[in-house]
Amino acid sequence: MFLKDFLFPKFCLGCGFLGAYICHNCRKNLYYMEKDMCIYCSHNSLYGLTHPACKRRYGIDGFLSIFHYNNLLKSIIKSIKYRYALDVWREFCLIIEPESILKVASLKKIVKGPIFLEPIPLHRSKLRHRGFNQARIIAEYFSHRLSLPMTSCLVRTKDTEPQAQLRKNSERFRNMQGAFDVEGTKVVTGQYIILIDDVVTTGSTVKEAARALKLGGAKGVFTLSVAHG
Ligand SMILES: [Zn+2]
Ligand SMILES: [Zn+2]
Repeated sequence: MFLKDFLFPKFCLGCGFLGAYICHNCRKNLYYMEKDMCIYCSHNSLYGLTHPACKRRYGIDGFLSIFHYNNLLKSIIKSIKYRYALDVWREFCLIIEPESILKVASLKKIVKGPIFLEPIPLHRSKLRHRGFNQARIIAEYFSHRLSLPMTSCLVRTKDTEPQAQLRKNSERFRNMQGAFDVEGTKVVTGQYIILIDDVVTTGSTVKEAARALKLGGAKGVFTLSVAHG
């Protein structure tokens, strides 16, 4: 046991067990996505690639997610306290099984050309309040594991309402409309980008971000989230 663990003991965010933020028992209740799907029609698709018939010019070309967004994951993500959030997210990334990392790595074979990882940005006022962007921590982890460079061309120009508080799809869509802008189109033009977010539900956020990147000249935009549901 490290001194730090003694001074600041970790308690499981799922069950309160002492010793880890997500204990071994609770890890068993995190379910990996067995099948990948098209983000537009929700039907199965190899590597989560968007079906040719579902493709949109300014849309998402592929979507991968690691876990099902179940109640346990929901409560873990919700209960992550700001003070320990960085530590918790780091521990969380480390429990992701290598097979899931390999699935993301398969994009490298499908896409012929360099790929950049782009975390979904927070509005600057939210970033100031929270002190960190969880999507960036996740992106940094994948950047390290997959040896893919990161970019930060996207800017959140609109301080949106939290999507989870909006029930209707149309409200979520309207909330995100025009929320992103691209800075430095030079970096984006002709490139492939993987957008990174913690949770994707209806996909309104990542779809809007993809639109901004494609309008900025990106050739292909994929999405990777830790949880989906
Ligand atoms: Zn637990
Ligand atoms: Zn489809």
